[in-house]
Amino acid sequence: MSTIKPKRRRCKICREWFQYRDFRIWWCCPEHGAIYATQKRAADQEKKRKEEAQQERRNTKIRKLAVKPLKYFHKQAQTAFNEYIRTRDAADPCISCGRFHDGQWHAGHFRTVKASPETRYDEDGCHKQCMPCNHHLSGNIGEYKPRLIEKIGQEAFDRLMGTHELKKWTREELQELAAHYRQKTRELIKRREVAA
Ligand SMILES: [Zn+2]
Ligand SMILES: [Zn+2]
Repeated sequence: MSTIKPKRRRCKICREWFQYRDFRIWWCCPEHGAIYATQKRAADQEKKRKEEAQQERRNTKIRKLAVKPLKYFHKQAQTAFNEYIRTRDAADPCISCGRFHDGQWHAGHFRTVKASPETRYDEDGCHKQCMPCNHHLSGNIGEYKPRLIEKIGQEAFDRLMGTHELKKWTREELQELAAHYRQKTRELIKRREVAA
């Protein structure tokens, strides 16, 4: 004879109280047990189906990223890098014309990304620039140079203009670089908020 005292719980199907000895029993009678089993089976199947669909969406996302060209990851990294440059130079005027104005601000490379891809993520070579200088004057390089030397110093300028190894970026490295600059921007903004 079992010495376990019967306990009470509500039937999952009809909500009536019943006594049970086995904690796995959630039904008051065999008929309700059968209904409960059917419902549980359906619920389990639905849960499994949802999990499979979620996994499939995850796999699709991974596959889509895997076939994206390297250019896509460079674009992500450059966007994050440029955002950091504009944030870093927020209080500065345009590196080329020296003006403050209400228009759009860009991050302007002294050595263009096309001509010098090896310095595209070099913080010394990219500064806040007004849209007219960046777009209409192709960077306004003649004005850019003296202000750049004044800002970073001759030594850093010479290093920037020297030869650099052209790095063979992988997708993962570019994703990390983008994350690194997003983080750097966030931290800079936070530090300024604290200092203000
Ligand atoms: Zn019942
Ligand atoms: Zn300008």
